[in-house]
Amino acid sequence: MKGKTVIVTGSTSGIGAALAGGFAAEGANIVLNGLGDAGLIEAARAALAAAHGVEVIYHGANMARPDEIEALVRAAEGHFGGVDVLVNNAGVQYTEVIEVFPTERWDALIGINLSAPFHATRAVLPGMKRRGWGRIVNIASNAGLGGSVRKSAYVAAKHGVVGLTKVTGLENAQSGVTCNAICPGWVKTPLVDVQIEDRAKRDGTSIEQATYDLLIDQQPSGRFTTFEQLAETALFLCSSAADNMTGTTITLDGGWMAT
Ligand code: NAD
Repeated sequence: MKGKTVIVTGSTSGIGAALAGGFAAEGANIVLNGLGDAGLIEAARAALAAAHGVEVIYHGANMARPDEIEALVRAAEGHFGGVDVLVNNAGVQYTEVIEVFPTERWDALIGINLSAPFHATRAVLPGMKRRGWGRIVNIASNAGLGGSVRKSAYVAAKHGVVGLTKVTGLENAQSGVTCNAICPGWVKTPLVDVQIEDRAKRDGTSIEQATYDLLIDQQPSGRFTTFEQLAETALFLCSSAADNMTGTTITLDGGWMAT
């Protein structure tokens, strides 16, 4: 990855931060993006650059806004001369049954989790095709392959991301640009911590018990998928081993989809 430029959307926290770290460790220059405290983001940016001797910039595009997504890609191209890898990772969660699911939450979730990957992909493709090489890695989810109650918007968005992955792969199959999706099961991040807290409240149990229950309900291994496993998988998708792999999904879910 030395000298390559990688955009990771939603990389101020959780999986995105870990993926940015994984690419930086392999020598890539990084474009960070995401919400959060400006001082903490700047500290993380500087630390990542210093740790790996790479260039790291931050762009604060709100992934709910197509114009800002376009600006993010143009800024990356302007600064580094091109974008080699786009990781569509930014995502939010909201859980409620359909009949009382707030419509504004539906719109926001679909915008950030599904439309943003479309807008970012649309913006990076011309440059990648011109240079004859590019990798688009979509962080979907098991929710892109199966349903779960109370997650209509998230499941619909992630199924959409899997569909977008297929079409992006097909449309660019002979261009040197591949597009694949990683479908993690449970990964211990702030997005899941909220769900563990909700579960503990609902069931009147401890956080430890709710964590165990959440895992064992769906992820037969009983273990979280780790940041390292996700980073290595994203790097694999950018390696020559995956040159002829496109439009498909890799699940890292401890056996969840086999049940
Ligand atoms: P997280 O909450 O730790 O991180 C989400 C990131 O997205 C943050 O950097 C946040 O700032 C950013 N973000 C949110 N809204 C944004 C917006 N409007 N504009 C710009 N950035 C925005 O969550 P995570 O668990 O690391 O999730 C990352 C991705 O992985 C998501 O797409 C999520 O659906 C997916 N995923 C997570 C799990 C899991 O178990 N944690 C499982 C499967 C898939």
